[in-house]
Amino acid sequence: MKIMVAIKRVVDYAVKIRVKPDKTGVETNNVKMSMNPFCEIALEEALRVKELGLASEVIAVSMGPAQCVDTLRTGLAMGADRGIHIETQTSLYPLSVAKIIKALVDVEKPGLLILGKQAIDDDCNQTGQMVAGLLNWPQGTFASKVVLDKEKQIATVDREVDGGLETLCLDLPAVITTDLRLNQPRYATLPNIMKAKSKVIKKFTPQELNVEIKSDLEVVEVTEPPKRKAGVIVSSVDELIDKLKNEAHVI
Ligand code: AMP
Repeated sequence: MKIMVAIKRVVDYAVKIRVKPDKTGVETNNVKMSMNPFCEIALEEALRVKELGLASEVIAVSMGPAQCVDTLRTGLAMGADRGIHIETQTSLYPLSVAKIIKALVDVEKPGLLILGKQAIDDDCNQTGQMVAGLLNWPQGTFASKVVLDKEKQIATVDREVDGGLETLCLDLPAVITTDLRLNQPRYATLPNIMKAKSKVIKKFTPQELNVEIKSDLEVVEVTEPPKRKAGVIVSSVDELIDKLKNEAHVI
């Protein structure tokens, strides 16, 4: 069984985001970019499944500009067997990404598709659900535990939901999206970084996959959140209560 993992290149989680002066989006020039943290978890899970002998190959796919190859190389250094890059300069929204992933699934026929639960740049949390809909596959979203049964061809997925855990049993092939507590992704070791240089990354355009990228939504404006006012240090509990009552009006 092959496992396909979608990994997105995003602004690194530790970078302080700056909005472009023309308010069309977030500044990405000269900004550190990394693999989306939930995608690292997705890839780690695929690698663990393969290491348990339950999968034969892990394929990492990424969509976006030429620099996505760096993200794919990181994925290959973590242990993915090969990469697929869908190169486009056009802004991609979840439905376009889901259509591209579906087209790749039709070609590669993986038994399991793992995505992050959300990308930390757009916070959409839509792609996994959309691709499951397009493929008509069962989906286990926000997975915090995944157990595969090769014989029965099922995946048991624990999901973190409000107030507890929900356990689902999915027939394979299926789509899983990963939550934070699923695992702790590994670091790429130096020998594996070197090995990754000779692993194959295939390149396609959306047109070659017969996917038309058109957006159903338009970003009107991106603005920074209002600046927070400086805090004050109060000298007593009485003063605090007075401020909460008479200035903040919260009690
Ligand atoms: P989103 O729905 O945008 O929050 O993204 C959820 C997940 O979809 C990500 O964690 C990735 O696994 C996948 N994904 C979204 N956009 C891309 C992309 N451009 N390239 C690769 N994977 C993506």
